[in-house]
Amino acid sequence: MTDRDMIERWVRPALQGSQPYAVPDATGMVKLDAMENPYTWPEAMRRAWAEGMMALDVNRYPDPQAHGLKARLRQNMALPAEMELLLGNGSDELILLLNLALGGEGRVMLSVGPSFAMYRLIGLMSGWRYQEVPLTEDFELDREAMLAALDAHKPALTYIAYPNNPTGNRFDAEVIREIIRRADSVVVIDEAYYAFASHSFKDEVLDYPNVILLRTVSKMGLAGLRLGVLAASKAWVETLETCRLPYNINVLTQYTANFALDHGDVFAEQIGHLLDERKRLAEALSQMTGVVRCFPSEANFLTFRTETDAVRVFEGLVERGVLIKKLHGGHPLLRNCLRVTVGKPEENRRFLEALETSLGG
Ligand SMILES: *Cc1c(COP(=O)(O)O)cnc(C)c1O
Repeated sequence: MTDRDMIERWVRPALQGSQPYAVPDATGMVKLDAMENPYTWPEAMRRAWAEGMMALDVNRYPDPQAHGLKARLRQNMALPAEMELLLGNGSDELILLLNLALGGEGRVMLSVGPSFAMYRLIGLMSGWRYQEVPLTEDFELDREAMLAALDAHKPALTYIAYPNNPTGNRFDAEVIREIIRRADSVVVIDEAYYAFASHSFKDEVLDYPNVILLRTVSKMGLAGLRLGVLAASKAWVETLETCRLPYNINVLTQYTANFALDHGDVFAEQIGHLLDERKRLAEALSQMTGVVRCFPSEANFLTFRTETDAVRVFEGLVERGVLIKKLHGGHPLLRNCLRVTVGKPEENRRFLEALETSLGG
């Protein structure tokens, strides 16, 4: 018996041969692949942060309920007072938690494709059957197909990213409401990009017995902290708390997130710059020869389609020191698609230059 034999015998079949989530090395590159906020903090703010850290006692466990942090998140995200919050080590952990709480032999999870890859991956690792409904060619929800899939597969859990990743668009809210009403089960609205979007479901979540909202501080500027937020009714949060590991939000994350949210104006300004840059970048992409389409975005990234082989364009960008995301090959609807995160003006300029050359060459 080798360890290989043991693995084949005991590890769940769904995981056999699958690969861990791969993150490419971006050392020395213009990094526009992961929807990070490119801006760092002003010097004075960094100093105050470092000084405050001196008072932390990491020999003690963190505040198990993170009361202070929840209050600041609620305020910063303007969440309704009646909503209860549950925090996770990134919203990825909250997806896993939801899967654990609602999963079970033979249960079906529904989502759309292309969408956030972690729904499927976390679904498979937590034992779900994953069912996907393709979006339309314009990356909109296929209303009839979604309603039919709800009836046919009776999913226990449906994930909808709003705005969607990797396409950047915000789905028709009215179709989402229809899905919520038709589903005889939980619908999760994942608003990872809320800071860059013109509409949110936050004020109507509590109108339904089956809707749970997910948010994260990753895309607005705190990706390194790993902090996700689940917002729902009191009954839902109290129930889901049973699947949360104690002390899952560590002392350093709680301290830093509290500190950062006390400087909300700094982040609001950064987001303002990114929205301006998104507009400029979208215009430049739409006008560029060799780009057949730049899709509308309400997130901090833009997805576009190239006329020629996107893989070669992607590789051309890498050769010129710019890392974006190759979407081509990930889903049939993403043929010749690439995704670029909105960076600082200088980074975007370098990206556009490198793209122009890569498209020509
Ligand atoms: C980035 C992203 C997340 C993950 O956020 P973390 O809090 O960093 O784990 C969740 N959902 C969508 C749609 C995302 O794009």
